[in-house]
Amino acid sequence: MLEVQSLQKSFDTSSGPLNVISDVSFSVAAGELVSIVGPSGAGKTTLLRCISGLMQPTSGSVELVGSPVLAPPKEMACVFQDYSRSLFPWFKVQRNVELPLYNKFKSTAERKERVRRALSEVGLTGFENSYPWQLSGGMQQRVAIARGLAYEPSVLLMDEPFASVDAQTRADLEDLVLKVRDDLGITIVLVTHDIDEAVYLSDRVVVMSARPSTVVEVLPVDLPRGRDQISTKEIPRFA
Ligand code: ATP
Repeated sequence: MLEVQSLQKSFDTSSGPLNVISDVSFSVAAGELVSIVGPSGAGKTTLLRCISGLMQPTSGSVELVGSPVLAPPKEMACVFQDYSRSLFPWFKVQRNVELPLYNKFKSTAERKERVRRALSEVGLTGFENSYPWQLSGGMQQRVAIARGLAYEPSVLLMDEPFASVDAQTRADLEDLVLKVRDDLGITIVLVTHDIDEAVYLSDRVVVMSARPSTVVEVLPVDLPRGRDQISTKEIPRFA
């Protein structure tokens, strides 16, 4: 489904080139949930931006179903950590979710139906006429997720999507991501610095080294899913 091959990324800075990602390769199968973990500054966000087509790698490639990703593909949606900046405070929930659909879906009825389905999927039916600032942080992040889902993408990219919320909201949102994956069969690539979260959520975990980063290993998470049953101690690398 998604193939990252020998990806290298450096930035030109005033003190010379900054080699952030030196060599990263991995693949993601359709319907899989893969987490990317690694130390701060390892280039996780940079990698996700390259996968999304928002940024081009210096060398190497990203392919989506065999086609190179040279610009943000229609089949991909992104959800970022900072929901407060990604939602428009002056638009109601309905409009916030509907806005990105205007480009592709000319029919109002089709847009409304997509918004209805997406809000239902994230448990926000009935909040169409609320403004983001009337909702809790967790609910706002649900709106941001609904906005990604309304496009009905085949791949959802999430960059630290639960980093700005409290522990209980985080647990609720994690379970929402699993529900989205199971209900809709969407392929999900998620960046997190929380290894327990990665293990709880993922089919596989891509572990990046410190900058300039490579993939240290790709771990299959062959453990029963259940918050109480999972412990990273069971995985030798994290013990
Ligand atoms: P964190 O876990 O702290 O969010 P990360 O693993 O997501 O970090 P990135 O945000 O991808 O890491 O950043 C990796 C490095 O690349 C950092 O040193 C950052 O300063 C640098 N960097 C990112 N974007 C640019 C840019 N556009 N120009 C120059 N340097 C950049």
